[in-house]
This record gives sequence, C-alpha cells and structure tokens, in this order.
Amino acid sequence: MPRVALTTLGCKVNQFETETMEGLFKKRNYEIVDFDEHADFYIINTCSVTHLGEKKSRQLIRRAMRLNPQAIIAVTGCYSQIAPDQVSEIEGVKVIVGTKERHKIVELVERAAKEEGVINAITDIMKAKEFEDIPLFQSPGRTRAFLKIQEGCTNFCTYCIIPYARGPLRSRRLESIKKEAEKLVEGEFKEIVLTGIHLGAYGRDLEDNINLVDAVKTVLSIQGLKRLRLGSLESIELSPELLELFTLDNRFCSHLHLPLQAGQNDILKAMNRHYTVAEYRELINHVFEKVPNIAISTDIIVGFPGETEELFEQSLNFVRTMNFSKMHVFPYSKRKGTPAASYPNQVDEHEKKERVHRMQLLADEKAQEFHKTFVGKTVQVLFETKHNEVTDGLTDNYIRVYVDSDSVHTGEIYKVYLEKIYKDGLWGKRIVE
Ligand code: SF4
Repeated sequence: MPRVALTTLGCKVNQFETETMEGLFKKRNYEIVDFDEHADFYIINTCSVTHLGEKKSRQLIRRAMRLNPQAIIAVTGCYSQIAPDQVSEIEGVKVIVGTKERHKIVELVERAAKEEGVINAITDIMKAKEFEDIPLFQSPGRTRAFLKIQEGCTNFCTYCIIPYARGPLRSRRLESIKKEAEKLVEGEFKEIVLTGIHLGAYGRDLEDNINLVDAVKTVLSIQGLKRLRLGSLESIELSPELLELFTLDNRFCSHLHLPLQAGQNDILKAMNRHYTVAEYRELINHVFEKVPNIAISTDIIVGFPGETEELFEQSLNFVRTMNFSKMHVFPYSKRKGTPAASYPNQVDEHEKKERVHRMQLLADEKAQEFHKTFVGKTVQVLFETKHNEVTDGLTDNYIRVYVDSDSVHTGEIYKVYLEKIYKDGLWGKRIVE
C-alpha cells in the first residue's frame, strides 16, 4: 500500500482542503502517515499570507526531501499559485498545484511517479468560475469539522495577496452544503465550522439572492447537529438577520471573529478597509446588546506602512477600549504585487517587532479580563484533546477549558464548573448530574 504524508500551513480553509485531499487518497487505499515519517508521496499545502508562510513552505519541502529523496513531492496552495516558477525550482518538487485542480491530486502524483520532470497543474485563478466541490471522506468519531462553503475574495485590501491567490468569489451550493454537513453529523462530529476566504460574501455569485443566512439555516436544519460555528467574517457583512439567528438557536455558537486590522482610521483607509473605528465600535456594541454572552475575537496588523508611533498609540488606545476575547496580532508583511508593498514609509522590522510585543501584551490582558468574567460559571464544553492527565476543549464562545482527564471523554460535551484562570483559558470541574 503506498504511503502518503500531508501537511498544511496557514488558515482553516487550507486545513479543510488538506482534509479533502487526504480523503481522496484514502478512497484509493493509500496509507496516510505522519509528515515526519518515511512516505512515497508528500503533499505540502502552502500559505502565502506572509513571507514567513512562504519560508516555512520551503522548509517543509526540504524536510520531505530529507525524509525520502526518492519521494514524489507535490506542492499545492497559495504559495504555488502565486509563485509557481519559484516553487518549481526548489529541489525535489515534482508536482505543482495551485488553489484549484486539487481534486486531481491523486492522478497527478501517480503520473509524476511515472514521468520525468515537473508537472505544473497551475491554472489562471482569475478565470475560475465554479466552486471546486470535493466531497469529504471522513472517519467517524471526531469533534470539530471545518466545512468550506466559499472560495475567493474581491476586497483587495492593500496588504493582502489572497485575492491574487484565490481568485473571484465562488460559493458552494446549498444542496452540497447540506449533503456534506449531514455526512459530518452522521460521522459523529459534534461541531461544524463554516469557513471561506470571504465568508460574508457567500452566495453573491449564486442565483436567487442566497446569502450566508441561508447557508447557516441549511446546516441548522440538520437533526443531530450539536454546534455550528462561523469562521472569520468581515464586520460590515454581519447582517441583522444573521445576528438574529444567534438568539433563535442555541446550537449556533456565540462567537464571532471580526477582523479589525487597525484601530486607526488613516491606516484603515490606507488598507482599503471600508469602515471607521467608530463604525466598528458601534457594530460591536450592537452585537453585545443583542447577544450578551457572545465572544468577539479579532485580527490586528501592526507596522503597516505609514503607521507612525503616534498612529500606533491611537490604535492601541482604541483596542484598549474594546472587549475582545482573543486577538491575533501580526506584523505587517510586505507582499510583492500588492499596493502596500510599494507604499512609502515602510516600518522598520525592529520597530514592528516591538509593536507586536506591545499589542500582544494588551491582547493577553484582554483575554484574561474576558476569562475572569467566567470564573464561577457553569458552561458546556466540547472536549477535543487529551494530554495525559489533562484534557481540554472549547465552550460555545470559544474559551479553552481544561479538566482532569479522568472525568471526561474527548468528542463529548459536558457541563463544567469553571474554577480559575489556567493557561490560555480556564480550569474547570465536570458536573456529574
Ligand atoms: S477581505 Fe481583505 S484581508 Fe481578507 S482575504 Fe480579502 S483581501 Fe485579504
């Protein structure tokens, strides 16, 4: 039985796509092994969102080469889509697939095993029209599954390479979403996370005015589903109908990830983000009024070109006033081909590092403040990972909870009393009823 090892860098969408490719190999009876094992085929699903993503992608290719110099190495994802020539020059690479055509991955690597040279399966992503619908192939008994329902982005934020790597908007049809979600529920997944590159734009390319609310309702209509969560969403795309759904169905997890990116209007404008900090704040206040227990997490980029110390301070001060449960802080990464890469007043790397540190300290403070409000409360936790004596899982509002492993099984939801702050979340005790 041929052995294949797959690995992913980057976002949840990439993670989902690796799982679908893994399914294609399983269907053909390949043995799936860990990436640090000897394999006949290595599939590396790359990321290009920062220059670090590209560097790590190259390191993984070299690692696969060391593990088995005779192996067929296939590189897929955003990095190969953006820089196919660069990727094809890396020693050992035999197949290059971009962000499309991944349904052909098995036949491409099998072809590469028989042919000389590099197989380049990159197509012009800007001409892509249809959602690449690869059915899932899952083994039962897992906890949380990502379900990709949307591809592409046309927002063109000035720092972001993704629209060039992923192409125009394409949405998965409701019938396909239903079918895949039913499969996941039957496979005993307790939670489904809907993901997309530009999730809020779901349905814009489909007929009949379908939107994200329809996709959410479709999944919620499935009997036996315990939880549904949304991936990252642009704040300005949070519609009143979608917000209403949080109050109508308690399986719809009280958690929204709404990227802020900068807490300062001039920087937001230079980033081509279409809101002001005041509008963002107003929206968040409205969300808390409607759904008081909701957790709002966010992304922040620091060191964008033109961000002076004064503007950074303004950003920090804005964030200080917001009740974020979690923040992902990134240093601005110059991406060739994006408008911001040629903006004047690029921020020095050392300065960026220092700002990341300051913003991260604030992020940690915010997370602790949020967690403290849950000490003494009882919550429902879906347990995911067992590390010897301690098992952890997530509440519906995305708090990580740790308990004694003896008291729970992974893949199950339990009532837990939260006792104290612990690591990046809270320590609790299972309530036996
Ligand atoms: S919304 Fe902006 S940041 Fe997000 S993928 Fe699209 S262009 Fe990139």
